Amino acid sequence: MADKVRVRFAPSPTGFLHLGGARTSLFNWVFARKSNGTFILRIEDTDAARSNEESVRAILEGLSWLGLCWDEGPVVSGPHEPYFQSERRPIYHQYARRLLQKRLAYQCYCSPEELAQRKEESLAHGDNWRYDRRCLSLAEENREVLARDRKPVLRFLVPDGETSLVDMLRGTVTFQNTELDDFVIEKSDGFPTYNFACVVDDVLMGITHVIRGDDHLSNTPRQVLLYQALDFPVPRFAHIPMILGKDKTRLSKRHGSPSLADYRDKGYLPEAMFNYLARLSWASGEEEQEIFSREEIIDRFSLDRVARHAAVFDLDKLNWMNGYYIREADEERLTDLLLSILKREGIKPPGDQPDDWRKYCRQVVRAMKPRIHYVAQIVEDGRYFFEETVDYDPPVFRKVLLEPGARERLEKSRERISELENVTIESLESVVRSLSEEQGVAAAKFIHPLRVATSGKKGGPGLFEMLEILGKDRILIRIARAIEQILTAKLSEEGGASLSL
Ligand code: GLU
Repeated sequence: MADKVRVRFAPSPTGFLHLGGARTSLFNWVFARKSNGTFILRIEDTDAARSNEESVRAILEGLSWLGLCWDEGPVVSGPHEPYFQSERRPIYHQYARRLLQKRLAYQCYCSPEELAQRKEESLAHGDNWRYDRRCLSLAEENREVLARDRKPVLRFLVPDGETSLVDMLRGTVTFQNTELDDFVIEKSDGFPTYNFACVVDDVLMGITHVIRGDDHLSNTPRQVLLYQALDFPVPRFAHIPMILGKDKTRLSKRHGSPSLADYRDKGYLPEAMFNYLARLSWASGEEEQEIFSREEIIDRFSLDRVARHAAVFDLDKLNWMNGYYIREADEERLTDLLLSILKREGIKPPGDQPDDWRKYCRQVVRAMKPRIHYVAQIVEDGRYFFEETVDYDPPVFRKVLLEPGARERLEKSRERISELENVTIESLESVVRSLSEEQGVAAAKFIHPLRVATSGKKGGPGLFEMLEILGKDRILIRIARAIEQILTAKLSEEGGASLSL
């Protein structure tokens, strides 16, 4: 019977959780769930200078947010503890010794400065630089002298020949061993290098399939040689393509953020992110379908439907997809997200009644839900719901509020609205309808100035819905302020005109 599938996500905690890392993790998770296997999280923190706790937290939070719960790893523990590589040094050391004893590895005392100098000389001669094996056959007495003030690194003795591996996406890939160099497996401070620790752990943790980014493809032949040298079984490999921006360059802020947490903080929904990341490089076979539930993805996923070419991150498509999930989402959940975004932005409730504030925010959510891509857009586009003063965009102000008759119509509207006992969608609509009939002008002649006066914007949710949320007092204050500004602008225009006469 085939081994039970065991896969792992093995991030180095040296920064935020990148969309590429999140997708690698997602493919591993889906693969494990589909094959009733085990998904392991291992933190590769052997680079002490670059690893930090904040980054570990970002990884754990990011995966949990996406719903990629791990079966073994930090917090949940498991039979192969510890899951932090920095706590497993004696284990790697023991295997490094084994290679040393088998003469498949050797101590190297060359300092970084010496290596740099020899590399420079070799390049100056037009030769390719590879470690020149100076320490491979070091006489014992020389070694003793060197060992007095230097700590050696351990290098793997790369055999002659070539190394092949079978990649589940690419088929057989072959590397010439001359390209591989006698790479370091243990540094002079006793820490293992990535390639070595990764192989030891993948074996000890029983990993059957290594699914990772194709930026690691060039490491894999080195790892295959290590498996062979240690008499370990070689797992299966799948190197999945990188995620690039639309211009085919490395994903950066210019393409939208590369950090998963930024999307969470802006109010993207995890189910949308899950769907979007899954569809990056994976073809479901249903070319017309974009929206997939988690279960559908698990059900249909297979590694041979993962493309080999780079995936292109498309923020517009993500926005479209998230908009879809927002429209499906429960108002209370979106209100919770809005409340946390407002808090983070320092926007406070006007009074001390949390229930009223929540109710108010829920109304704003209801009005904005059909037209947003992510929850923070409610604040970006609808600041007027949360701030007392409305800012006018000068061209909009000129076009709509300085139009002849706009001020008079605002005055009329203000008068009628002030007489209303209940400011509701219906009562506001009937005010505008009767005014437009009385004056024989289109309702739009009232609607546009009213919208700009109360929100500063040309577009947004339905005007009456928006005004009902703002409430009578704010409507009246804002219209009065707009009228004042129209008068000031007209006066200064006239003043300017007379001066120029
Ligand atoms: N620590 C490596 C990284 O974050 C893991 C690579 C692997 O999955 O083997 O890129």
